[in-house]
Amino acid sequence: HAKAAGRNTYQMFTREMHTAARQRLAMENNLRSAITNDEFVLHYQPQVDAATGKVVGFEALVRWLSPEAGLVSPERFISIAEETGLILEIGRHVFEMACEQAAKWKKAGVPFEKISVNLSARQLQQPDLPEMLATIMARYEVEPGMIELEVTESMTMERPVESIRILGVLKSMGIDLAIDDFGTGYSSLSYLKLFPVDKLKIDRSFVKDIEIDPDDAAIASATIAMSHSLGKKVVAEGVETAAQLEFLVKHGCDIIQGYLFSKPLSADDAVEYLNTL
Ligand code: C2E
Ligand code: MG
Ligand code: MG
Ligand code: MG
Repeated sequence: HAKAAGRNTYQMFTREMHTAARQRLAMENNLRSAITNDEFVLHYQPQVDAATGKVVGFEALVRWLSPEAGLVSPERFISIAEETGLILEIGRHVFEMACEQAAKWKKAGVPFEKISVNLSARQLQQPDLPEMLATIMARYEVEPGMIELEVTESMTMERPVESIRILGVLKSMGIDLAIDDFGTGYSSLSYLKLFPVDKLKIDRSFVKDIEIDPDDAAIASATIAMSHSLGKKVVAEGVETAAQLEFLVKHGCDIIQGYLFSKPLSADDAVEYLNTL
C-alpha cells in the first residue's frame, strides 16, 4: 500500500516537473522571438527628491509586449532570460532603448537628471560590458552622467573582488552606480565599504511595514545612517503610503520611489507626469 502511494506521488511529481520544464522551454522560445521581433519596451518610474519633491530621475523597467499575452512583467521572464543567457541580448537592447530615450528627452528639454538601468549578474560578468556600454552611449551621444546602473546586492556579493573592479571601471567612465534590493542579500560590510557606488536602494520588503514592524523600521533607519556615513545616498523603493514617506523623510532618506508618487509609466506618460507637477 505504502509502495503504491509512493509511486503515485512520484508520478505526480514528474508530471509537474514535466509541465514546468515545458513552460520554461516555451518561455525560452518566446523570448527568442521577442528579441527578433523587437517586442520589449521600457517603462519609467519617477524617483523623487525627498527634500524638494523634485523628480531627479527615472528607473527604466523592461516589459515584454507580447502579441498574444499583452504586457508581460519582468518577474515572469528575467530569471529564465538569466538562466538561458538571453539576458545578455535583452540587457544590451534595454540599455540601448534607455540611451535613445535619454537622448530624445535631452534634445526636447525634458527636465530629468538620470535614467537608471538594471544590470543582471551575467552582464556584470561580461568582460566587454564597459566597452559595450560606452559604444552605445557614444552612438546616442549620451553623457555618462545621464545614466545610472543598478546592480543587486546579491550579485555583487557573489564575486565581491571582481565586482569591485568592474564597478570601479564603470564609475571611472562617469556612470553613477546604485546597489539594488539592499538588505536582501548577504552583505559583508567590509566589502560594502569598498564598493564605489553612489547609492543604496532599500528593498521594498523593508519599506512595506516600516511604520508597524519595529525590525523593519530598525533595518531601514540603520541602512540610511550607515549609507550616509559611507558617503552614499539612499533610495527607498516601493513607497506606497504617506506614513511610509513620513518615516523615511524623518530618518533622512534622500530619494523616494514608489506607487505613492507613480507607477512605472510609458515614456509619453512620464513626460506628461513631469508636465502636470
Ligand atoms: P527592481 O529593480 O527592484 O525594480 C522595482 C520593482 O518594484 C519594479 O517591478 C517596480 O514596478 C516595483 N515597484 C515600484 N514601486 C512599487 C510600489 O510602490 N509597490 C509595489 N508593490 N511595487 C513597486 P517590475 O517592473 O515588475 O520589475 C521587477 C524586477 O525585474 C526589477 O526589480 C528588476 O530586478 C527586474 N528588472 C526589470 N527591468 C529589468 C531590466 O531591464 N534588466 C534586468 N536585468 N532586470 C530588470
Ligand atoms: Mg532596480
Ligand atoms: Mg529594486
Ligand atoms: Mg526590489
